[in-house]
Amino acid sequence: MLDHASFDEIREGQAMIPDITTLEHWVDTILTQLTEDTSVTFDITEVHSPCGDFNADPESVAVRLRINTDSAGSIFLGTDQTSEEALARLASELQDHIIDHEWGRPLPPCPGHQHPLSTGVSDGTAYWKCPHDEDHFRREILSL
Ligand SMILES: [Zn+2]
Repeated sequence: MLDHASFDEIREGQAMIPDITTLEHWVDTILTQLTEDTSVTFDITEVHSPCGDFNADPESVAVRLRINTDSAGSIFLGTDQTSEEALARLASELQDHIIDHEWGRPLPPCPGHQHPLSTGVSDGTAYWKCPHDEDHFRREILSL
C-alpha cells in the first residue's frame, strides 16, 4: 500500500520528485504488470547534479533498469508536475524497455486487441488504457 504522505512532495509550481521508497514500490508494481521475467531488476539513485547525461535534470531521481547483468537504460524522474504524471511516465518508459526486451510483444496486452495498453492521466488518476477506446479497457496503474 502506498504511503499517502509521499504525495506531500507535490509543491505548487515545482517539479515533483518522488521519494525513493515510493518509487521502488511503483517500479516493483509496474514490472509485475509488464513481465514475469525475473532477470529484470532495477536500481534507483538520486541525482543531485548534472552527471554528464544530457537527459538528467539537476535535481532528479534515476531508475536504472538492468536485464540480466546488462544495463537496459535509465529513466529520470523529476520534471513531472504531479505524482500521477510521474507514475504514468514511469510506466510508459518501463513498458518501452520491456517491450524491446520481449521482442515487441504487446505488454501489457489490451484484452481482446492486438496492441499493448497505453498510459494516461485523467481526473487525477494514472491509468493503463486501450489506446483506441478507453471504454474498452481502463485500469488504474496503482490503486492508491
Ligand atoms: Zn485496445
